[in-house]
Amino acid sequence: MSTPLLAFVFFFLGDSIIAVVTANLIGGLVFFWVDRIILEEKQDKLVKKYLMYLGRWQLTSITLYSVIQLFGPGLIGVLLANLIGGLIFFWVDRWIFTGKTLPPLWEVSEDIVCVDCKKKSVRGYRLVLALNYNRRKEKSPEFRCESCSIKKTKELRKRGLQV
Ligand SMILES: [Zn+2]
Repeated sequence: MSTPLLAFVFFFLGDSIIAVVTANLIGGLVFFWVDRIILEEKQDKLVKKYLMYLGRWQLTSITLYSVIQLFGPGLIGVLLANLIGGLIFFWVDRWIFTGKTLPPLWEVSEDIVCVDCKKKSVRGYRLVLALNYNRRKEKSPEFRCESCSIKKTKELRKRGLQV
C-alpha cells in the first residue's frame, strides 16, 4: 500500500536521502493507523507507540535507500524495497503493537504431584519459556495441577510477565 506513496514522493523529490526520509515520515504518519488495525492494537500507550512507530519507519530508510541505489527510484525499486521492508519490519511492528516477541512455551506432563496443593493430577503444567523467563535447564521442574497452574499464571502476569 505504501508503494504508490513512495513513488509519488520520489517523483517530486528525486532519490536523495532527503526524499527517502521524507517518504518514510509521511508513511509513518499515515500507516500507523493502518497497521494498528492489522495488528489489533490495544488502546494503551498510544502516543509512545506512535513515536516508536515513526522511528521504525526511519529505520526502513536504510533498506529503502540501499535498494533504490541499486535499482533506481522506479516502481520496481520501490516494490522490491517494500517487499524486503515488509519481511523484516512485520516483526518489529508486532513487537511495538503487542509487546510480544515470542509465544510462551509450556511443558505438559502426565501423572504429576502438584507442587502447590500436593495433590496427584493426571496432567500437570509448567511454564518453560517466556519473555524474561527461562526455565529450560531446570534440574527439578515443578509441575502444577490445572487450577494451581491458572493461579500461578495470574501471579506471573501481575509481575509483568507475558504469559
Ligand atoms: Zn495444585
